[in-house]
Amino acid sequence: MIDPFGREISYLRVSVTDRCDFRCVYCMSEDMTFLPKTELLTLEELDRLCSTFVGMGVRKLRITGGEPLVRRDIMWLFRRLGRHLDGGQLEELTVTTNGSQLSRFAQELYDCGVRRVNVSLDTLNADKFKAITRWGRFDQVMEGLQAAKKAGLQVKLNTVALKGVNDDELHHLVRWCGDEGFDLTFIEVMPMGDLGTENRLDQYWPLSMVRAELGKEWTLDESSHRTGGPARYWTVRETGQKLGFITPLTHNFCESCNRVRITCTGMLYMCLGQDDSANLREPLRRTDDDTALQAVIEEAISRKPKGHDFIIDRDSDNVSVARHMSVTGG
Ligand code: SAM
Ligand code: SF4
Repeated sequence: MIDPFGREISYLRVSVTDRCDFRCVYCMSEDMTFLPKTELLTLEELDRLCSTFVGMGVRKLRITGGEPLVRRDIMWLFRRLGRHLDGGQLEELTVTTNGSQLSRFAQELYDCGVRRVNVSLDTLNADKFKAITRWGRFDQVMEGLQAAKKAGLQVKLNTVALKGVNDDELHHLVRWCGDEGFDLTFIEVMPMGDLGTENRLDQYWPLSMVRAELGKEWTLDESSHRTGGPARYWTVRETGQKLGFITPLTHNFCESCNRVRITCTGMLYMCLGQDDSANLREPLRRTDDDTALQAVIEEAISRKPKGHDFIIDRDSDNVSVARHMSVTGG
């Protein structure tokens, strides 16, 4: 699949649920209304959809959510998708998780062929963790991380940089990740979904400032590692671990974008920062013949936009894309 700007689409992110056992302040309001189950793609439909994309050239598949590991029987989907790894069509099957269920599932994920997991963790302080995630249990996530390590999964932490919240923990996070053998990526807070009372301008902390602060204590060597996404990587010389910065607001990363996203209802988004989408559930449910589905996918890829329009400033209302991150998946 090649889009109109010559970019090869080889990376698919799939949200398998909009539900979550946490209520992170920048992601969800406390009283979220979730979709009725009938609107969600079944696990069989998700398998068929992902497999169609693999057949069309997708090499990397990331399962996300909401919290993917709280979806019932989700391991069935991982086992099914693992067959594409065995067949060599798929290079990588990964998952982004809040870590709460990793104690239960880390080994099984490894057995399905998963080798790397992204775990979202913004703080190493249990009280702050509670304040950020509202419903999360810090100890459970710590146990999950150890289970992942024990199972042989490579771990990368995703940490949203939040001004006044975790700005005093930067160095501690880098050191701790070094000790544990985890990579670490900082993410800028993005203007997605109306959260009611939370004000993103208060939370917004440009990663250029994070980077400058880190430079005071750590030697950061530029790394050639690229994922085709909005992350840029460095190697922390003192620990040997990778350090990434995801800066969708302050940098333009779109020229190398290789990815598209699917929501748990089967909407295909060609860009995280644009509202244009294609309904894949309709051809999925209309016919068992994959030709119709493939045609809709091809047509959608031909509409992939050149770039996003995120903006966060005092003149805007701070919500440039109305859907929540938990809808499209991180
Ligand atoms: N529940 C899983 C998790 O937390 O890793 C997967 C889904 S979550 C939506 C994916 C990522 O999006 C997480 O790393 C989370 O921190 C990030 N995220 C959510 N809302 C965000 C926002 N408004 N700005 C930046 N990152 C956000
Ligand atoms: Fe749940 Fe992940 Fe959103 Fe937190 S960031 S509320 S863990 S979906």
